[in-house]
Amino acid sequence: MVQPHSHKYERESALRLALVAAARSLTTQGLNRGTSGNIGVRLAHSFLVTPSGVPVDELSPESMVAMDFSGTILGPGKPSSEWRFHRDILMARSDIGAVVHTHSRYATAFACLQREIPAFHYMIARAGGDSIRCTPYAIFGSQALSDLALLALENRKTCLLGNHGVIALGFDLADAMALALEVESLCEQYWSALQLGEPNLLSADQMQEVLEKFKDYGRRQD
Ligand code: 13P
Ligand code: ZN
Repeated sequence: MVQPHSHKYERESALRLALVAAARSLTTQGLNRGTSGNIGVRLAHSFLVTPSGVPVDELSPESMVAMDFSGTILGPGKPSSEWRFHRDILMARSDIGAVVHTHSRYATAFACLQREIPAFHYMIARAGGDSIRCTPYAIFGSQALSDLALLALENRKTCLLGNHGVIALGFDLADAMALALEVESLCEQYWSALQLGEPNLLSADQMQEVLEKFKDYGRRQD
């Protein structure tokens, strides 16, 4: 039984609040509109996901839906239609604590062309490799979409979903949120560069050098 003041209970309460704030922030940052997108975070033996089809103004900490990894809803309410990819990513990737899904404008424009984003800028390394892959199309909420996403996310922390949007992963919620914004920014830059001509692409060696340098870049110690 969960003790009212146990560490586990406090962590879940904090994550419920953080999920609401993150969902609102995706809207205020212009990465999502209406009810597009969703967010999932890992708990000890389960996960929390945003409810399906609820506008951000109506979200509350209590409305975040807990599920276990077998897909059982622990409650309350109806989970995001994309609970399968949230579950499957969190199950497959022990390095990942949070999954952010958006329909952000520039990234989704490339996703509608099913176009991979190449190493046109060194920050593509934030994706975990030298490209941001794009999946073929599969209908939202399907196991097929989740399977395609897992493949596109191999050795990566982000991918585009064909004719749909973006998935960004992080070791925690803040990390995944930052990557969702970075992907949109990169896609805007790539679109801009394409207006001017054919972008120069960085080589595999140049990208490897960036990936190495990122290992001790910034504040993160891991
Ligand atoms: P949900 O409201 O069910 O999370 O759906 C939004 C979405 O983006 C589906 O891909
Ligand atoms: Zn979506």
